[in-house]
Amino acid sequence: MNPVSTLNYFMPTRILAGKDSVYNERSFLAQLGQKALVVTGKKSARINGAYDDAVKALTANGQDYVLYDRVMANPTDTCVYEAGALARKEGCDFVLAIGGGSPMDAAKAAAVLGIKDIPKEDLFGTSFTSALPLAAVPTTAGTGSETTPYSVLVDTTGPDGKTPKEGGPAKRSIGSPLLFPRFAFLDAKYMAGLNRETTVNTAIDALSHAVEGFLSRRANYVSDILAKESICLIMDNVEPLLAFTVDSAAAVFPAEAREKLLLASAIAGMVIAQTGTALPHSMGYLFTINWNTDHGRANGLLLKSFLFWCREREAAASISPRIPELCAALGMELEPFFAILEKLLGQREKASEAELQDWGSQPMKNGANTYIQPTQEEILRIYRESVG
Ligand code: NAP
Ligand code: FE
Repeated sequence: MNPVSTLNYFMPTRILAGKDSVYNERSFLAQLGQKALVVTGKKSARINGAYDDAVKALTANGQDYVLYDRVMANPTDTCVYEAGALARKEGCDFVLAIGGGSPMDAAKAAAVLGIKDIPKEDLFGTSFTSALPLAAVPTTAGTGSETTPYSVLVDTTGPDGKTPKEGGPAKRSIGSPLLFPRFAFLDAKYMAGLNRETTVNTAIDALSHAVEGFLSRRANYVSDILAKESICLIMDNVEPLLAFTVDSAAAVFPAEAREKLLLASAIAGMVIAQTGTALPHSMGYLFTINWNTDHGRANGLLLKSFLFWCREREAAASISPRIPELCAALGMELEPFFAILEKLLGQREKASEAELQDWGSQPMKNGANTYIQPTQEEILRIYRESVG
């Protein structure tokens, strides 16, 4: 890719990585305001020490805070309106997100609603003009939400007002530069107790971001460099991921691998901040909505067939090839990579014919973002090959 052909690169998040960064770098938090809305999931932030560190840092800074700790996996619109109302009631002037992608994404929407209660169409339609400043402390290494301008939420009534029973609820992504965290504190010590399932699924999510960003129509010279580096970092840590079994204690996963995966995830976030995600993310949302499949696993189930299709279409048309360069970053051809992926995923879920037909007929928002435009038939084929 020509480095100067077109380039539009924007990433305003200051990354502060290292052990005890939340406390040691608390002077940055002090810039954000007087009173924080601290947003967490239901349990893990208190168990892994991130909440205690945040409280210590805020207290040392003389900053007040109030806790919202009701964020569920795949956060809903209802949850973010509740958090936003709490921020307004308590007079919070900034937001501190602690957790995996779910609390970080919920915190971003709460930062918008913490200023003003706006209708849901305006939130999802991104017609807001301000948000409280936000800092993020990721405690999983996957979503990269700490470096993205996105908040992915479940719209419980669906885009056109249908009830969940009528097939309404959908994962919808809000994207606005106002949602970039000002600061991202990366400290892998919080992940010491992360189980095999979340460690592996989130690593696959980060890998999907880097791969999809590399295969995005919006990829540019800088996002490519970041994508390849993130892929290399993740692939360098495939051995510990493969060795991590469901019976292993979380503590056996090497701390150094956790650090590298956390960095790789933040870098992959910087990639999709530029490029957006591509076809697998849109397709995977339907696994999560219908089967409650973990987000990272949902992407992982689709990667193999998606990449086969990319390679096939590249070979058949005059599309400038991306797969050989991707394989160079992976450090291997697609086939051995798929063998690794299969080991990480284990037994695949199976869809019914009705599910395949239904999902395969739905429009995929990020299909258009992919460097090759998929037809509806090809989308159905990828679903069939992945979970048929
Ligand atoms: P998550 O839903 O945030 O967390 C999954 C589970 O891990 C929860 O049970 C959580 O517990 C637990 N957990 C988190 N940190 C832990 C730790 N350090 N130790 C032990 N347990 C821990 O999962 P995620 O995969 O990180 O986030 C997925 C969400 O992010 C999805 O909604 C997805 O759509 C979104 N996403 C966003 C972006 C973006 O750019 N914004 C990109 C990709 C994905 P608690 O609930 O108790 O905290
Ligand atoms: Fe993702």
